[in-house]
Amino acid sequence: MNPTQRPKVLVTREIPQPALDRIKEFARLDLWPAFPPPEKSELLRMVGDADALLSMLTDPIDEDVIAAGKNLRVIANYAVGFDNIDVAAATRHGIAVTNTPDVLTEATADLAFTLLMAAARNLIAADRFTRDGFWIAWHPQLLLGQDVFGATLGIVGLGRIGEAVARRARGFNMRVLYTARRRNLQAEAELGLQFCSLEELLRQSDYVSLHMPLTAETRHLIGAEELAMMKPTAILINTARGGVVDQAALTEALQQGTIGGAGLDVFAVEPVNPEEPLLELPNVVVAPHIGSATVETRTRMGLMAVENIQAVFEGRRPPNLVNGELFA
Ligand code: NAP
Repeated sequence: MNPTQRPKVLVTREIPQPALDRIKEFARLDLWPAFPPPEKSELLRMVGDADALLSMLTDPIDEDVIAAGKNLRVIANYAVGFDNIDVAAATRHGIAVTNTPDVLTEATADLAFTLLMAAARNLIAADRFTRDGFWIAWHPQLLLGQDVFGATLGIVGLGRIGEAVARRARGFNMRVLYTARRRNLQAEAELGLQFCSLEELLRQSDYVSLHMPLTAETRHLIGAEELAMMKPTAILINTARGGVVDQAALTEALQQGTIGGAGLDVFAVEPVNPEEPLLELPNVVVAPHIGSATVETRTRMGLMAVENIQAVFEGRRPPNLVNGELFA
């Protein structure tokens, strides 16, 4: 085949090699090589002759980018969340949008639990304390945290990742409450979960873990009023999206002792500004949006995104289509 006739796949960041190799089997690869994401002007330029766009959650795929992609047939997001994409605009332009569900569920649930444990047991402070030479003697009151085993966990948004967190909580003998738009009787029976309102969940939980997508409905779902309902010892874990929490209200709640702590993988603005007052608080454990960041998971995500692109090129319905109406 004449290589110039092969479709072009634009990949906006270096993803694991097996996925890039797979693309080269059926398309021309245009890879953005830098560590930071492309500026919008670059994205607009590069998407101009692309047949497929393999985008990251850091790429705002708005109407401008979509309209600039004259040949674009598919936007394969390298994430399960797709709040960075104007899906309605893509649908209007007849462009398929896909995501990478399931393959990152366990890794993200692991990170949610890692943050929970680290915040509960002051792990980051303990690490710093030990390295900095402050460990002059064992002391009964040193770095006291709080129990995880047997505590109450509240899960907001019982989807794939929320359920995976609930499975982990069982091993810790936790009482697990959840709130969602509808009940999941099967999960309740299998995992011994209790359904309740958001307010009830916030009032009763020792740990609250957020797992809903960022939508117009969930933006700032956790604000000052909700934080005030939580126990003063409660720890908030967010591996969903920064926008589901009112970050200014969270900072204030942590400063005032309204809640006990937080474990955060996601922020209102990413990368979070290191000067952000939130980062000065000792009762906060933070990570740079690494929920799915394992070698195996990121490789599976890449292969899944590529499979979605290939399906569209072959005229098949992509397995992880977000705008299903396109192939209805
Ligand atoms: P999912 O299976 O779609 O689960 C999301 C759940 O949230 C669904 O059960 C949904 O219920 C529920 N929900 C939606 N709106 C809600 C609301 N207003 N109140 C309560 N629950 C609501 O998605 P997932 O695979 O578990 O992923 C969840 C989110 O995690 C993603 O959207 C993404 O933003 C985030 N994520 C982050 C990372 C990271 O690196 N930190 C990695 C992976 C995912 P319905 O069935 O009623 O819609």
